[in-house]
Amino acid sequence: MNNFQYYNPVRIVFGEGQIKQLADLVPAKARVLITYGGGSAKRTGTLDEVKTALDNGGERQIFEFGGIEPNPEFTTLLKAADMVNEQNIDFILAVGGGSVIDGSKFVALVSHLKEEDGTVSREQAWDALTSYTKNIDSAVDLGAVLTIPATGSEMNSGGVINYSERQAKLPFGNPLAYPKFSILDPTKTLTLPERQVMNGVADAFVHVMEQYLTYPVNAKVQDAFAESLLKILITEGKAVKENPEDLEVRKNIMWTATMALNGLIGTGVPQDWTTHIIGHELTSLHSIDHARTLTIVLPSLMRELKDSKKDKLLQYARNVWNINNDDKQLSDDDVIETAIAYTEDFFKALDLPINLADADLDESAIEPIIKQLKAHGMTTLGEHKANDLEVSRRILQRAAQ
Ligand code: NAP
Ligand code: FE
Repeated sequence: MNNFQYYNPVRIVFGEGQIKQLADLVPAKARVLITYGGGSAKRTGTLDEVKTALDNGGERQIFEFGGIEPNPEFTTLLKAADMVNEQNIDFILAVGGGSVIDGSKFVALVSHLKEEDGTVSREQAWDALTSYTKNIDSAVDLGAVLTIPATGSEMNSGGVINYSERQAKLPFGNPLAYPKFSILDPTKTLTLPERQVMNGVADAFVHVMEQYLTYPVNAKVQDAFAESLLKILITEGKAVKENPEDLEVRKNIMWTATMALNGLIGTGVPQDWTTHIIGHELTSLHSIDHARTLTIVLPSLMRELKDSKKDKLLQYARNVWNINNDDKQLSDDDVIETAIAYTEDFFKALDLPINLADADLDESAIEPIIKQLKAHGMTTLGEHKANDLEVSRRILQRAAQ
């Protein structure tokens, strides 16, 4: 196992009806900006529930900023950041999924980057994003009410921001962006359209894979933990499709998605985020849902990197898919191919795409993606930093077959 530091300060408040805890979790005299997305929080009543919980006879001042898009838009977020300054906001409460939480983290980090006229500087905010927000050293406090289990943003310090004008979807990370708390009420997920539920399961699955499918470093805790999370996502993903009303299934999916990307399974192990990085370009060029870009890329990545990931692929086949080859009847390659095919079958069972054709794209999509990867400096990806543009091109060519 590699050396590591593990730090995660996020208080998780889990369970039905727990939104009422906001009364104690948000400072009593705070000026709170509630941020939310395109309207689901309003439609489902969650926004009203939040406002009722926050109401303490007018001592807290409550403001609202709605309209944060899926794949949150840089320009929208700068408007929210201006509102933070105009209203002297000292607490941001994100109500929504990864997009609202990521976007709110970015707002919290960049709202102090002001021009002389007091508005938030577009150039400084862009510089902050392209430098992964590394140099930002102050942020507004933030909390979250999660409405879709998927990204793990509720318990990590990262985010991904889309800037359509520049055809860029870029990640950032800063310890100041850890939410102070996140409320996970699994009943809130019951209003999700099926497609979003499946997207969430897939995103969490790929998060685990990108911290697991590298090369062995004898990290027994992280490996066993990762394999358990994968197995739970496989069984509960199928279960939620069969029985969408089953709250126990929803609870398990919600907590699994959080555990998938709260840093724990990624400590002390190599990581390979190539699938996400290529996926971001697919979203920014073709507006494909985040999770669906991942299920398009991952099977082809597994095939393309079969040699360098061989030991871990064999471990994945054995421990996640129970492919027992103790009698050596199968070649290693057959074992790995079977595990990849099972992975594809799992995605298909959840109505997720597994190649470019499933997303109505063909090989003509490849070169523009490569161009964008180059423009964004994504040329040394993977656990060995060996995934250059040629490797990314070959992965995409496989996905086009
Ligand atoms: P999302 O983009 O936040 O939301 C997807 C859709 O679900 C939206 O249309 C939203 O509608 C709707 N929705 C949310 N909760 C709902 C509910 N309870 N009932 C009905 N509809 C609901 O989805 P996400 O998958 O959580 O986030 C994706 C983003 O996170 C991507 O930009 C991705 O790149 C990023 N991401 C972040 C991390 C990280 O570590 N921070 C990791 C992976 C991915 P409304 O807009 O109307 O609310
Ligand atoms: Fe993701």
